[in-house]
Amino acid sequence: MTAFVPFTPAAGQLTNFPPVERWDDWSEYDPAAWPKKVARKYMLIPTICFNCEAACGLLAYVDKDTQQIRKFEGNPAHPGSRGRNCAKGPATINQVHDPERLLYPLKRSGPRGSGKWERTTWDEVLDTLAGRIRRALLEDRRTEIMYHVGRPGQDGYMDRVLQAWGVDGHNSHTNVCSSGARLGYTLWQGADRPSPDHANARFILMLSAHLETGHYFNPHAQRIIEGKMAGAKIAVIDTRLSNTAARADYWLSAWPGSEAAILLAMANVILQEERYNRAFMERWVNWETYLRCQHPEVEVTFDNFLQAIKVHYATYTPAFAERESGVNASLIVEVAHGIANAGSAFASHVWRNAASGNEGGWQVARCLEFLSVLTGSIGTRGGTSPNSWDKFAPAPFIKPAPQKVWSELLWPREYPLCHHEMSFLLPHFLKAGRGRVDTYFTRVYNPVWTNPDGASWLEVLQDEEKIGLHAALTPIWSETAWFADYVLPMGNAAERHDLMSQETQAGSWIGFRQPVLRVAREKIGQPVRWTYEANPGEVWEEDEFWIELSWRIDPDGNLGVRQYFESPYRPGAKLSVDEYYQWIFEHSVPGLPEAAATEGLTPLAYMRKYGAFEVTRETYNLHEKPLHAAQLEGASIDPLTHLVGKDGQVIGVEIDGKAVTGFTTPSRKLEFFSQTMQDWHWPEYAIPTYIKSHVHREQIDHSKGEYVLLPTFRLPTLIHTRAGNAKWLYEISHTNPLWVHPRDAERLGLRTGSLAKVQTEIGYFVIRIWVTEAIRPGIVACSHHLGRWRLAKDSGGDRWSTALADLQQVGQGQWRLRQLQGIAPFASADPDSDRVWWKDAGVHQNLTFPVHPDPISGMHCWHQKVRVALADADDRYGDVFVDTNKAFQVYQEWLQKTRPAPGPDGLRRPLWMLRPLKPDAAAYRLA
Ligand code: SF4
Repeated sequence: MTAFVPFTPAAGQLTNFPPVERWDDWSEYDPAAWPKKVARKYMLIPTICFNCEAACGLLAYVDKDTQQIRKFEGNPAHPGSRGRNCAKGPATINQVHDPERLLYPLKRSGPRGSGKWERTTWDEVLDTLAGRIRRALLEDRRTEIMYHVGRPGQDGYMDRVLQAWGVDGHNSHTNVCSSGARLGYTLWQGADRPSPDHANARFILMLSAHLETGHYFNPHAQRIIEGKMAGAKIAVIDTRLSNTAARADYWLSAWPGSEAAILLAMANVILQEERYNRAFMERWVNWETYLRCQHPEVEVTFDNFLQAIKVHYATYTPAFAERESGVNASLIVEVAHGIANAGSAFASHVWRNAASGNEGGWQVARCLEFLSVLTGSIGTRGGTSPNSWDKFAPAPFIKPAPQKVWSELLWPREYPLCHHEMSFLLPHFLKAGRGRVDTYFTRVYNPVWTNPDGASWLEVLQDEEKIGLHAALTPIWSETAWFADYVLPMGNAAERHDLMSQETQAGSWIGFRQPVLRVAREKIGQPVRWTYEANPGEVWEEDEFWIELSWRIDPDGNLGVRQYFESPYRPGAKLSVDEYYQWIFEHSVPGLPEAAATEGLTPLAYMRKYGAFEVTRETYNLHEKPLHAAQLEGASIDPLTHLVGKDGQVIGVEIDGKAVTGFTTPSRKLEFFSQTMQDWHWPEYAIPTYIKSHVHREQIDHSKGEYVLLPTFRLPTLIHTRAGNAKWLYEISHTNPLWVHPRDAERLGLRTGSLAKVQTEIGYFVIRIWVTEAIRPGIVACSHHLGRWRLAKDSGGDRWSTALADLQQVGQGQWRLRQLQGIAPFASADPDSDRVWWKDAGVHQNLTFPVHPDPISGMHCWHQKVRVALADADDRYGDVFVDTNKAFQVYQEWLQKTRPAPGPDGLRRPLWMLRPLKPDAAAYRLA
């Protein structure tokens, strides 16, 4: 045995990370053995965190003696996270070694939801699923196969699988998450998300909630702090004193839903004081179209445009915004001046929060982006770019053609402009007889718990007429998996391949998730054919699952499916997961083959070594990118719109006599005026506007005990429902009291720790309160990350995180959930399970929320009008009651607010708007 030589960094060398040249043979002392000096020898293998969509890099420390992963730390070679992680990254080790984890495929052995399970084989699972899907394809039932994803954790793989099958079956969670903001951004710039350059900003405005505690969390947080250290000022609009707001220079605690009024008041200040960036707006805003459509009486000049919008927005005075929001007018003006002073280095972001809480919330993102446009901060250093500039998604080999069918269960005609599938309405659509699902995959998705109105979900999940077969693909037990036919264990961050990229900065990169133990075995010369051979138990990785399933659906290739799952290197042979990524790295990632060659590596070996690759260092001003000569050959320019067209497609726009790329909107400009809104029956919202929320002040009568409930915020140490298998995270965070302002507590006669009953439109929940000045008076708030339950003593949920509960149907459509026991120590292979000291599992609230689909964006509007009162004598902590009959009524009421398709040309939806897995253009036409 060689003597242990601790790493001695050279002077000035970064000491926080092991140098990459020693990753195959790293030694360090075992901290658990302290004070003894016990050396451990490791292989360090990079992978990507799977605990939120930020896709930070991790380094797995694989013990060379035991071939087990001992810990995870940050990957310094990852351009987005740069070696840093939040608490959830290192907690991946808990998920790997969780004694409660699912290790083998299970099949129900009693009625659905009865909790009776038996172990089955993967062969049986694959044959059953393949047989059903094959039958559906042969019978042309291509809208009856549905893949419903919660946490995607990959870019593009599943799109290819579903399009290879020719089904319109992609469903997502996005309409309970972020589609409100996505519509607002899409209308301006085509791309549906912003990419703020926080590190170089001079002023940062965030509408917080999930923003710097969830999605984009660590990569953004570190760059916000960089910006702050370089002198940037930070403003946060959030009713609640969030972690982000607590670090800001300005906290604007707005009445929920009034945020757009504040933002338009800021815009008005900038307009009236003429602090806007005239040159940028004149070049890049579609002001001519606005004047032609809404002011035909005036000459089409930029001065007339400015005059028209100054008049239009003059009513949004700071005093008006103060009346709506409760935020002091002088503070609004001060922040507006801060934004104007930043020039083109103003960065902004909204994620969930107001855009996801309110009817009309999508206008919040649109009004926020208006400030970026006014200041010319789009695409600039320190500004905000379209996310598509910074997120890099490489193309795989042979892309299937778009599907030829359209699923009305996913994209109903009432919501032609919804940004994603109307996923949370699925139970109601099924109850209303709009269709059925033959084979339903939930994939890292827990709608019974995560969605509003979960009781309606459990009703339809138990109905085999409505859902023929339900397979839950999940790394852990969930409340939804309990109502499945198959529970299929899938790998976590260290047990699967995926490609991921996110818009974390003004540059682009790609990250490679890897099955760590498989890679470790291959490094020591032990070939692995399938990832499950190296994973614990019989945990599969999904890539291989879908390849194998697709082969079994089409074993002889006659359905045209199999061709997409054949090797690009070995004609006719089954695609291996190595080959899938090998091809992409060799052909679709610019610069990677060259970088790999300089190290004498193949592109795949390079990615296995580093786990990430920087594709572009800086991505500023891409809208100004000139079209090159080959693009312009055979192109023509429209004299009125200046659009550059070729082969029936728009490829750019002429600006100041130069043909450039522009944005991905129909006009290729930033669309202040949306012809789409005008044409699709919403002319009153053709420009950025303030829409009064369903929880506007006028709707709330405090004298009746009415409040607005904010249920959208996240605890930074938890994940929606996948933190349940991370003991460290639950030790840190395991309670979610109701935030109540001292004035309201006094009015209600409540103190910290009092038991309160919170009544919604369809039921109630019982929770303890926390009296705090960190919330605006008149508003209450509760984090949605807690309140997990299991219905059996020792299965159906991780015991680190779930309360044992009793779920009863107490009347037709009436459900009562009662906690029988909180969290308690339990015996397992992990000695820590015997030391569990926390008892609280938190309280579930989402069951008591009816669906509130925004009539335009389709986003579920999470905020609730509630009544808060002292709990009754027979109420118990954690009680939930809900009536799904009332839930169905509320669904019908909100449905009435819509203005259905068709739009122009008999279309179901504008062709230019984004849609996951866009079908063939012919499928867009309503018959
Ligand atoms: S921010 Fe997200 S991806 Fe990064 S370490 Fe935390 S949970 Fe993992």
